[in-house]
Order: sequence, then C-alpha cells, then structure tokens
Amino acid sequence: MSVNKHDLVVIGAGPGGYVAAIRAAQLGLDTACIEYEPALGGTCLRVGCIPSKALLEASERYHEAKDGLGEFGIKVDNVALDLPKMLGRKDEIVEGLTSGVALLFNKNKVKRYSGRGRIIAPGLVNVSGTDNVEIEAKHILIATGSKAAGLRGVEFDDAVGTSTEALSYSHVPKKLVVIGAGVIGLEMGSVWSRLGSQVVVLEYLDRILPGMDLQLAKDAQRVLAKQGLEFRLGVKVTGVRKEGDRRIVEVEGGEGVECDKVLVAVGRTPNTDGLGLEEIGVQKNERGFVTVDEHFRTNVPGIFAIGDVIGGAMLAHKAEEEGIACVETIVNGYGHVNYDAIPSVVYTHPEIASVGKTEEQLKAAGVPYKKGIFPFKPNGRARALNATEGKVKILADAETDRILGAHILGAHAGDILAELVVAIEFGASAEDVARSSHAHPSLAEVIKEAALAVDGRALHM
Ligand code: FAD
Ligand code: NAD
Repeated sequence: MSVNKHDLVVIGAGPGGYVAAIRAAQLGLDTACIEYEPALGGTCLRVGCIPSKALLEASERYHEAKDGLGEFGIKVDNVALDLPKMLGRKDEIVEGLTSGVALLFNKNKVKRYSGRGRIIAPGLVNVSGTDNVEIEAKHILIATGSKAAGLRGVEFDDAVGTSTEALSYSHVPKKLVVIGAGVIGLEMGSVWSRLGSQVVVLEYLDRILPGMDLQLAKDAQRVLAKQGLEFRLGVKVTGVRKEGDRRIVEVEGGEGVECDKVLVAVGRTPNTDGLGLEEIGVQKNERGFVTVDEHFRTNVPGIFAIGDVIGGAMLAHKAEEEGIACVETIVNGYGHVNYDAIPSVVYTHPEIASVGKTEEQLKAAGVPYKKGIFPFKPNGRARALNATEGKVKILADAETDRILGAHILGAHAGDILAELVVAIEFGASAEDVARSSHAHPSLAEVIKEAALAVDGRALHM
C-alpha cells in the first residue's frame, strides 16, 4: 500500500473538520482530510442544520400562505402542498453547499481522501474505501462527529427512525410521535405539524429544551402547543410495537400512543466506530466522548480531537471554533474558544436563541445578577411583521453590570442575538448595549429596551 505524507490529517469533513482543514492550509500546513461519505460537510450540511432549516423555512411559508396572510389583508385560495418539490429544493440546497466545500478544498489545496480513516499508530492513518492508502502525518485531528442515539426497547424500521429519515418522509404522516422535546424534536415536529401531521411529543423530563432558560422554554411550549404540537411531559417510553403499518409507542404506566411514524430524537452519541482509538490507547470518557485538554490534545501525543466527538454543546459553530483554535495552537502556539459566547438557536417559529448563562445556572453558582426583560409586543417592527410573541431577557452581573447571559424568544431571535454574542465577547455591560443606537423600527430595539430594563429604565413600557 502506498504511503502519502502530510503535515496534518483531519478525519471527518463536518463543520469542525473541514473548517479546521481550511484554516490549517491557510496557516501553511500541508493538509489532508479523510471523509467516507461522498459529500463533504458532515452531519450539518448533509442531514442536519442545512436540510432542516430548508424544510423549516418552506413549511413556514406553506403554513403562512394557508393560514397567516389573511391578517395582512391578503386573500389566497387553493394553497396546495407539493411535497416532492419541497424535498427536492432541500436536496438542491444541500448539494450546492456540500459541493461548495469541495471547491473550498481545491482553492485552499486541502487534499481530500475518500474512505474510512483508522488510526493505526501515532502519526499513521489508514484510509480504506474509494482511496486505499496510508497517510503519515505529524498531527492527526479527530473530527468524526456524532450519530443519533437509540433508545432501549425501540427498534428502527421503515416507520421508526431518526432525524435523517424525518428530513425525507415521502408523505405527510397522519400522526407523528416524536420522542424527545429537545432541539430536533421541536424543529422537526414543527415542520411536519405545519405540513399537516398531528404531532405528539413525548418527553422524559418535566420540561422541554433542557439546558435552556426555563422561563423561555415554558413560554415556547405554550406557543408551540397553540400551533398544534401536543406535549406529554414526564413520560417514559418503554418500547414501540408494530401493528401492520401502524406503530404503538408504549409508555410506562399509561396508554400507548398509536401513530404512523416515530421520530426518535433523544440526543446524539460520539462517532468513534472503527477509528482504532482503543488499540492506540486514546482515552474516552464514560459516555464515549474523546477526552481532550484545553488545547484539544488527547492523551496520545500528536492526536487532537474537536467538535461533537468531544462532547459539550453539539453545534456546528462550536465545532468550527474548536477546529480553528486547535490548528492555530498547533501552528502558532495559541488558540482559544470562549464557551460563554457560543450562541444556541432553536429554529422554531418564533425562534428561541440563547447565549451565556441561564438564570438557573447563575443561581446554582451563587452569582448575584440583575435581569432586564422586554416583550416584543410594543415594538413597531414586530407589529408590522405580525410577530409580537416573545421577549428578550438580559442577565447582568449585579455589581459590574457585565452581561452574563441573554435569552430571546421571538421572530428572528437567532439573528438579533448576534449583537449580544459580540457584547459578551467584548465584556460589555448592559449599559453599553443600552447606550448604543438601534435602528428604528427594528426588532433589535427590543434588545436595547431589555438592556435599559436591567437598570429599571425601559422606555416603551
Ligand atoms: P459531523 O458534522 O458529524 O461530521 C463528522 C464527519 O466525519 C461526518 O461527515 C462523517 O461521515 C465523518 N466520519 C466519521 N468517522 C469517519 C471515519 N472514520 N473516516 C472518515 N470520515 C469519518 N447545529 C447547529 O449549530 N445549528 C443547527 O441548526 C443544527 N441543526 C441540526 C439539525 C439536525 C437534524 C442534526 C442531526 C444536527 C443539527 N446540528 C445543528 C448539529 C450539527 O450538525 C453538529 O453539531 C455538527 O455537524 C458537528 O460537527 P462535527 O464536524 O463535529 O461532526
Ligand atoms: P437534545 O439533547 O436537544 O434533546 C433530547 C431530548 O430527549 C431531551 O429533552 C431529553 O430529556 C429527551 N430524552 C432523552 N431520553 C428520553 C427518553 N427515553 N424518552 C423521552 N425523552 C427523552 O437532543 P436532540 O434533539 O436529539 O438533538 C441532538 C443534538 O443536535 C443536540 O445537542 C443539538 O444541540 C443538536 N441540534 C442543534 C440544532 C440547532 O442548533 N438548531 C438543531 C438540531 C439539533
């Protein structure tokens, strides 16, 4: 078998791996990236962030055309769903972006290998697949991401699947049961509910969206329930029974829920199958995530890991930041990720966006804080958009006024949150944001008002 030499070999071309490879090449490393899927871009571009957002946008337009334009004085008759076209548009977007990554690799002279990467020794990786080769590299970066977690007692079949299948149902299910009221459950549940499914969400905990601000999660639950999602909280799923084409989702101490599709969305687990980690002694934690130090070094010299495979927030932009910090440290000796300034957005309607600490975290840590809350209702732009649902909450240090966290439920929350991410990155105070001019009329004015409210001086309420 031939042996090729590079400075760095990245295993996995998701947002963590492909961005790390491009940055490493920019910094002058001779870089290779191994990926076994034909398309580059990982979970995010192929079966995650991008296709789900394409369907969220399309289903929201359908729903609006059907039921939401009357209030604007627009009459629309005969609105009909063309599901194959909607799915085709999603696939085209995915195809465009994944082939864009291949172009970026060419532009930056990142060498792509097609096949499965397996580390056979420090500094040596075997590729088997379309390419069959060994690669010698001083630095190896594991960026193999994650896969959907299964559930004891629940077997996957043609009606029981993960988000990947839920991105491509060929028909609108009459009744869809979603197991897990996390991000995937709410996003994919929203898509199919808007397209006509009756959606029941079963959640083990007594709340939705664990980890997000509790007050906003409760508000979001109320709004989504009004849109038609049925939530059953504190429910333990024990199995799924097959009855012809139907499935019965069995729950502890209660009646089973009959449906025609089941989406299992109970989290994701690290993807380390066949990587050779046990053989060469790379440490993993009790949940299987690769263990790294603050510079993304594993316990084996020369082997690094970033992204979903090391755990923490499973977000594309978190994986990207880690990939960049990791290769910058390899080349320049320094690199850093500020985990307090990693935003998180749930793309429901309205969106739920969050950065920094929640009230629950500040209370648990005994940090004294002030809060400013302002609703979207009095905002002129929100009224023009017919999007008055929701609020902005800003949490600031009680003594220094430094912003510690920000949480938004509202239209375009993910976009307008960016201002507060930058504020946290710059160590800004609530007063800094309150004294900054915000365009009128804009949704961002709600952020200014919430920042003013931290000091008890909101103007429009
Ligand atoms: P991945 O994207 O999983 O990439 C890992 C790559 O490694 C894969 O391409 C895999 O094929 C490859 N690979 C694995 N093992 C090997 C091997 N041995 N050899 C060669 N190649 C290998 N995050 C957001 O920030 N925003 C969102 O809106 C969002 N929406 C999502 C929606 C869904 C339905 C899902 C499932 C996830 C979503 N995520 C979202 C999460 C996001 O997709 C992940 O956090 C992100 O993709 C992680 O990036 P990564 O590079 O660590 O891993
Ligand atoms: P999640 O961790 O967000 O939610 C899983 C939910 O399932 C939790 O509420 C959990 O309590 C519940 N659960 C666990 N076991 C259960 C059981 N036996 N019965 C019922 N409920 C159970 O996971 P997810 O929704 O699968 O998403 C996976 C990852 O993908 C997340 O980490 C998320 O960050 C990422 N993602 C992000 C976005 C985004 O950023 N917009 C979108 C989709 C996915």
